[in-house]
Amino acid sequence: MSLVHERTSPDLLAALQSQAAEFIDVRRDIHRHPEMGYKEHRTSDLVAERLQQLGYRVTRGLGGTGVVGQLRRGQGEKKLGLRADMDALPILEETGLSYASCKPGIMHACGHDGHTAMLLAAAKHIAQHVQFSGTLNLIFQPAEEGLAGAQKMLEDGLLQQFPCDAVFAMHNMPGLPQGHLMFREGPMMASSDYVTITLIGKGGHGAMPHLAADPLVAGAAIVLGLQTIVSRNVDPLESAVITVGAFLSGSVNNVIPQQAVLSLSVRALSPSVRESLQVRITELAQAQAQSYGVSAQVDYQRGYPVLVNHASETDFARQVAHELVGAARVTHQGKPLTGSEDFAFILEQVPGSYLLIGNGSGEGDGHGACMVHNPAYDFNDDNIAVGSAYWSLLVERFLRD
Ligand SMILES: [Zn+2]
Ligand SMILES: [Zn+2]
Repeated sequence: MSLVHERTSPDLLAALQSQAAEFIDVRRDIHRHPEMGYKEHRTSDLVAERLQQLGYRVTRGLGGTGVVGQLRRGQGEKKLGLRADMDALPILEETGLSYASCKPGIMHACGHDGHTAMLLAAAKHIAQHVQFSGTLNLIFQPAEEGLAGAQKMLEDGLLQQFPCDAVFAMHNMPGLPQGHLMFREGPMMASSDYVTITLIGKGGHGAMPHLAADPLVAGAAIVLGLQTIVSRNVDPLESAVITVGAFLSGSVNNVIPQQAVLSLSVRALSPSVRESLQVRITELAQAQAQSYGVSAQVDYQRGYPVLVNHASETDFARQVAHELVGAARVTHQGKPLTGSEDFAFILEQVPGSYLLIGNGSGEGDGHGACMVHNPAYDFNDDNIAVGSAYWSLLVERFLRD
């Protein structure tokens, strides 16, 4: 990649720094009042009110609690989408912070409070100071954590009502130095599928196995057989995970059970590997069951798809980062993660890129280095300025006059 800009943008960072305190308060207010997926009523009220005050045209109700704020300027035809997520997790907070969750058992443990606050901070700066020509769509989605809020917004017509030429999203990442920006072209987050294999045999007396068809022995063979899919069927240069997390069968030593149930978590980092895992898991379970004289029902539930960042949008997003924070604070092509993210649904329909912003790596970063989904996690408020400056510059560069 040729780096057009090697300078940083201290003026922009300083401008966003000067309004950061207001949005740190917003972040902490959302943190104190976390809401689970599709129940982000207070949060979406707050988002909608702020956007309205800033002059955005606000649309509510997509995906239930989703909010879109639109700002159009000039004659430009280009249309840009930026996405933040708003939901919390069912975790009992243990940070001891003054602004800790006031709801026992619900916590912003993934930093979606911070993502929402960064995008609102950018919304203010953009509305008041950024020159652009075109259409900006700020998308605040519900239910990222497992409930596919992005997919729900798409089903409700997100891209028909708010067409976008490109969409970007940002997630904080503990372990990466605070304010560092990490990019990756291609697959960045894994698909996540759930499989239930039900083996139906013929129960009987443990003393007379020849008169029964034992689903437990078939299940044991299937658990071992599944291990060969990653080692024997997946290209060694690709990656995949098949975890049998539960194997339920039988209750007493002298009874051959009627059935056995296996529960699997299946992940892949390429759509083609994902397809081949489904084919092989289904074939192997059915053929193996048949070889033991039992039958197999395979219930294959697809969760989030592989998140694949588009090449030219990722390159554009990187250049914005270089210009803002300088090359030393940008990871050009980071490693993919085996977690999953429902922004993947949006990237299946519109080009774009998903980037990570470092939440902190050292002791001095306080809660910043603690991994997301941990009860001691907290979003790093120092990112409000840099994250919102990043969004502002990206809008300025994408929707140039
Ligand atoms: Zn999460
Ligand atoms: Zn998250």
